[in-house]
Amino acid sequence: MPAPLGRRTQRPRGQPRYKRFRVARRGIFRSLRSSFTSTIKRKSVPCPNCGAAVDLQIKLVKITTCASCGTTLLLEDQGLRSAGAAGAMHDVPQLFDVGDTIRCDTTRITVHGHARFSYGRGFWEEFWGLDFHHQSVWVSVDEGDVIVQRPAPRRSWPTVTRAMTVGRDFSYDGTNYTVIEEDNAECVALRGSFDEVLQVGARYRFINAQSGANDVLSGEICNEDQRWFIGRWIDPFLVVNETRRGS
Ligand SMILES: [Zn+2]
Repeated sequence: MPAPLGRRTQRPRGQPRYKRFRVARRGIFRSLRSSFTSTIKRKSVPCPNCGAAVDLQIKLVKITTCASCGTTLLLEDQGLRSAGAAGAMHDVPQLFDVGDTIRCDTTRITVHGHARFSYGRGFWEEFWGLDFHHQSVWVSVDEGDVIVQRPAPRRSWPTVTRAMTVGRDFSYDGTNYTVIEEDNAECVALRGSFDEVLQVGARYRFINAQSGANDVLSGEICNEDQRWFIGRWIDPFLVVNETRRGS
């Protein structure tokens, strides 16, 4: 669910840049391309801050954190770029953690990233992972409540207004949703990898809207930037940590 704060325009990945070498020096072209533009395919690269090996195996990842020095690292065509501190993730007991494979009702998810957000009175946790079709999934955990969501298609995003306050109705994809929560939040800590750019210290407005008993639509708005996620509440008793159970 986290917001796309500080997202920057990037050249699409994988565009070859050394075309002129292609015919005459095919071998060199290949090796240049693999080392400069296919960063995401390399298994690990050195952290620009401390030199420790940073694991980069997942194609969708846009940012990751260095486990050694706690720096947030942006994946760019040129490699990794330092993007500030990843924040202190003071340990509190969690149902699961980065590296675990979990089952949320019928969806199996490998957890790759953990983001913590503060809304002033407390915190909630967002976990990013991949399902077994390698599709992006977010799991929100807030005081025992669990929501599993996926990015909502851009074409169906609702129009954000200031009037989207608690109790107001709006339509999404032909269904009526009611705003149940609307507040401001700040990203305070990051661990692991994410498929969207997050930054510790960034603030945004979030909106949670509900339809029926279980469907939840969540929006994150920062200036002109917005993203929406669609999913549902999961009974916490239907969340199983398969990694811990098997160990
Ligand atoms: Zn480092």
